[in-house]
Amino acid sequence: MKKYILPLIMLSIFETVAVALWLTQNNIFYLFNFSYIGISISLGVFLYIRKYKYARRVTQLLVGLYMLVYLGLICGENMQIEGFWYYLFTGTFEAATIHYAVAKIFGPLLFGRGWCGYACWTAMVLDFLPYKVSETPRKKIGWIRYLTFFVSLVFVSALFLAHVGNLEKIMFWSFIAGNVLYYAVGIILAFAFKDNRAFCKYICPVTIFLKPMSYFSLLRITCDQNKCVSCGKCKKVCPMEVDVTDNSRNRKNGTECILCFECAKNCPKGAL
Ligand code: SF4
Ligand code: SF4
Ligand code: SF4
Repeated sequence: MKKYILPLIMLSIFETVAVALWLTQNNIFYLFNFSYIGISISLGVFLYIRKYKYARRVTQLLVGLYMLVYLGLICGENMQIEGFWYYLFTGTFEAATIHYAVAKIFGPLLFGRGWCGYACWTAMVLDFLPYKVSETPRKKIGWIRYLTFFVSLVFVSALFLAHVGNLEKIMFWSFIAGNVLYYAVGIILAFAFKDNRAFCKYICPVTIFLKPMSYFSLLRITCDQNKCVSCGKCKKVCPMEVDVTDNSRNRKNGTECILCFECAKNCPKGAL
């Protein structure tokens, strides 16, 4: 029973957030929303402990599809970065702002880029592609993410400054167009660079929040130097090219870790 404490803790944290938001916001949606996400994540952790090979993918599909299909397409909430700016500018504490605060801005101080490994609906599709580990050297084009971040901010600011009407409808269609664009660019880049996660490494604007916050993450993979035999297997299976044998916070590609545990699963000495 002791080994199942972690999923139970995860479930309790999400239930606490669910009940707190339900009561403070007087909206039962939050109870449903955070309970569902908590159950999905705890289930993934439980399956991982049970050594089920696709544990992470189960959580990724449960959370990713819920956000994309239910919250995005059915409920009409723009959960992308444009939606975040939109709700932030209108001063509305709703799905996109809460989602960004919990998963992408403050949450990473606790669980790093867990969002990228277990919940993102863009990566949910990209992870089906054939290049689980990059087959080409890393490119020096990470600056593109600043450009996409800036474009999203300018796009929403311009709508407000120009007093464009029917913003809710524009946000809904920009959510659809944005996702189609992300998937198209992500898939093209994955094949061009032979790397499923090329979009995450070079283009995704959300990493502007995720990377600096995850630098301070409480939850991170560390290496027991006494057990490590420097076989290099962990680096060979890492989708984000993290030097996980280095325990310092500024290790190579340290803020790229998505906590997928592939390195730990493949370490022959149980050093990670
Ligand atoms: S980097 Fe962006 S696209 Fe990739 S998993 Fe994270 S949020 Fe999703
Ligand atoms: S796989 Fe394990 S033993 Fe090998 S280098 Fe990595 S941490 Fe060390
Ligand atoms: S393989 Fe290890 S170091 Fe690489 S992203 Fe996954 S958890 Fe992080």
